[in-house]
Amino acid sequence: MKQLFAERALLPEGWHHHVLLGWDDAGILVQVHPDATQPAGVAKADGPLLPGVPNLHSHAFQRAMAGLTEYLAQPTDSFWSWRELMYRFAQRLSPEHLYAVACQLYIEMLKAGYTSVCEFHYIHHAPDGQAYANPAELSECLIAAAAEVGIGLTLLPVLYQQAGFGPRPPLPEQARFIASTDWMLVLQTRLRGSHPEHARLRYGVAPHSLRAVTPVELDRVRTGLHAIDSHAPIHIHIAEQIQEVTDCEALHGQRPVAWLLDNQPVDARWCLVHATHMTPAEVQSLATSGAVAGICATTEANLGDGIFAGVDYLARNGAWGIGSDSHISVSVVDELRGLEYSQRLRDQRRNALATATHPNVAERLWQEAIAGGSRASGRSIAGLALGQQADWLVLDPEHPNLAGRKDDQLLAGLVFCQHGNTPIKQVVVAGETLVKDGHHARDAKSARDYRLALKALLE
Ligand code: ZN
Repeated sequence: MKQLFAERALLPEGWHHHVLLGWDDAGILVQVHPDATQPAGVAKADGPLLPGVPNLHSHAFQRAMAGLTEYLAQPTDSFWSWRELMYRFAQRLSPEHLYAVACQLYIEMLKAGYTSVCEFHYIHHAPDGQAYANPAELSECLIAAAAEVGIGLTLLPVLYQQAGFGPRPPLPEQARFIASTDWMLVLQTRLRGSHPEHARLRYGVAPHSLRAVTPVELDRVRTGLHAIDSHAPIHIHIAEQIQEVTDCEALHGQRPVAWLLDNQPVDARWCLVHATHMTPAEVQSLATSGAVAGICATTEANLGDGIFAGVDYLARNGAWGIGSDSHISVSVVDELRGLEYSQRLRDQRRNALATATHPNVAERLWQEAIAGGSRASGRSIAGLALGQQADWLVLDPEHPNLAGRKDDQLLAGLVFCQHGNTPIKQVVVAGETLVKDGHHARDAKSARDYRLALKALLE
């Protein structure tokens, strides 16, 4: 067993002092003792310890197009015009590009405090829409990138079958995404054979959205996956855009969240990404389902999607987590602050997501994002507790935003103050130090490969 002693550490129930952590060879915590004495020969952490945060929604390749669509292309620029540009970009992506972009992105995630990622992966085929000789070619690029960098991965290959409710046939630019349910289930089995699951790798499935998959195929993929792994996570884009809400109502007579909850056995295996447009009744039903709401505040703001019903949903104890989605920003604190500020701006009040029982808003957001992110990941990454993976961040106690702060002021300094460099000094995954003094061992190679990939993609 390896051990570390921390003067201060945030455990699931709050801050504790003199915490002795021990973890086994698999990187799983087997000892979490507050109020301990530092044993001889055991190192002391350089600063306060925070549990790492899971990133529950990522499309890795989109990192390379972040900031490329920030100009007016048409008078009513929206998600849909952004998507056209994204499709053109996706068309050029090779396996080598995806690997390079993912390595760069996953290092950025670690430095930002994300110790795991759920990859909602929908480019499966060659640019002409034909399957690669190895159908798992692009999935394996993501697995290799995560392993190279050290971040935990839940890989969610996406089922994408049609251009919209109706059904509408796929567009030519969607050819790389299109997969039959049978193909998807074969891929699931193949991946588990070639790259078996372990503590840092898990598989699930992502029916893209109700607009991209019919009810019949949604049933088929869910039951097919259940036969392979009855606990595997299922993620879906649910109600990001008003247009998909009205299209869903026109076809099914119900809004997307309501339809899904009435027609699928939605439970803790499920993650509903962008549950942005919900009625109060949908908020209530989703919160009691056990499913996780996937909130991607910076992407939702960037795309002009709308504002999540955070105050009502959290008041009903709904599970939730955060994702960086399109990667316009890769930052735990940006996502948490963006969520809180969206509620403040809408409701014209402060500390919108705090309550009498959770007065410290930053601490509540951090802890709940970990609990929900762990559930959505289908992995044991729910913080500094026995049986969970040894994933943590070490903060710089002398950073101007943290110096002199008491326990209950630390997270507010991290989440709400934005001055200079990040106070995150070290990042540890499964007991392995991956970022030290802001550097990752693969920094130089990753940056070089990323620049080359970007040059080719932007030519
Ligand atoms: Zn997405």
